[in-house]
Amino acid sequence: MATTMMADVKARAATPAGPPEHFAARVAGRLVAALGQAMLYATTNGDHQQPVPAMDLRQAAEAVSGLGLAIHEAPPDGQIVTVGADVVAWTRTTLRVFGDQLRAGTWSSCPCGEQHGQRDTDAAVLAAVNNDLLLLPTPGPDNTSG
Ligand SMILES: [Zn+2]
Repeated sequence: MATTMMADVKARAATPAGPPEHFAARVAGRLVAALGQAMLYATTNGDHQQPVPAMDLRQAAEAVSGLGLAIHEAPPDGQIVTVGADVVAWTRTTLRVFGDQLRAGTWSSCPCGEQHGQRDTDAAVLAAVNNDLLLLPTPGPDNTSG
């Protein structure tokens, strides 16, 4: 089943909306970590229970799988990872939503209602997400979906 899913992801990645992008393996790993934090925050803040969720968790999960598969398929001697344009777009969209929610204060690392230092944590995470977004190529005029 996992193999089917991976093949499915691979098939979609083979027909991207633009040329594939190349990343250093450590950058791809960093993006996977950022997507994990984005999904963690979305879940912690009950985004999926909202009438209109801010984050498309399905896209975020596809991005995680796509990046993980790209890291797995990197040449054994290489540090360069090739990622489909669709996976890059899903990553960008997810991290932008994450950053927007943090900036607006809509999402918190702990939404319990009390203040016990999570604003500092959230500010640090927002700074990290802004840096992570700089790792992604800016979409060209033909790829504005992100
Ligand atoms: Zn709390």
